[in-house]
Amino acid sequence: MSVSATVTPITEAAHAPKPQVWFDGELIDGEAPQAGLTTHAMHYGSGVFEGVRAYATEGGAAVFRLPEHMERMRKGADMFGLPFDPALATEAVLATLRANHHRDAYIRPLAWFGEGSFGLDVEGHTPHMMVATTATQVHLNGTRARLGVGKWRRNPSDSLPPLKLCGAYVNSILAKREAKARGFDEALFTDRDGNVVECTGANVFFVKDGRITAVEHRDALPGITRDTLLQLTGAEFRVVPLAELLDADEVFACGTAAEVAPVSQIEGRDYGDNPVTRELQALYGRVVRGQESSWRHWLTDV
Ligand code: PMP
Repeated sequence: MSVSATVTPITEAAHAPKPQVWFDGELIDGEAPQAGLTTHAMHYGSGVFEGVRAYATEGGAAVFRLPEHMERMRKGADMFGLPFDPALATEAVLATLRANHHRDAYIRPLAWFGEGSFGLDVEGHTPHMMVATTATQVHLNGTRARLGVGKWRRNPSDSLPPLKLCGAYVNSILAKREAKARGFDEALFTDRDGNVVECTGANVFFVKDGRITAVEHRDALPGITRDTLLQLTGAEFRVVPLAELLDADEVFACGTAAEVAPVSQIEGRDYGDNPVTRELQALYGRVVRGQESSWRHWLTDV
């Protein structure tokens, strides 16, 4: 299973109401909107998105670290000069979740430049925003991932900032395709100096002699799940050569969709049972569901 997409849509019952999406200020039938053929973002990737999750908690559905996701999206929107109001986007996320009656959900806000000319200049293009949500079945003890060390390099941060800019993900798509063609589930990016960067949609940690270390790299997205795990564990973070990962006792990837995903193999190197990763997986599962009172402030009630 892919570590960047471990969320599985639940099949909607035939009589279920049509999913609603929030589009430019209104909740509408999710199948209704059509993007124009000159949509700038479709041609050039001039959009910014987030991947957020809501979880069923004792008090109802709640969104995990929503302000942090909104802030990262604001930074991306600023890069393009796309108007973005975090307060409005927050309301849009909550309204969509309520409209779709979701509890465990994956949430996709997207802001982009729409119709206009074929020029690269974004000026004069209509800005849009949408929020879609899908119900998810959460596989906390999900399949362990096999990683291939990709031939593609991660976008260098002095060419593309490590933010969730739509066009930047072409890089992840190429790497994932290449890794899958070689029989792996997911690609691991390394840089020219042999240091680990990240996976196509997840950050990387390793465990050696009981010590947890987060991979730090300037080209990697500063993940919110990574930050969560750093705060929960007090793990160290630093630049990590691939050789050190191959010598580790356990490796795991983490991200909003992947949660905490044990890695079973990197190229030919097999890892064992990943006991520390499984403990962290369970802790993360309790935190996101509001079962750890000291971290309840990370949840926004729907
Ligand atoms: N790296 C990349 C390239 C990603 O797309 C993601 C998913 N957003 C992550 C890392 C993990 O980030 P987060 O924990 O904020 O979801």
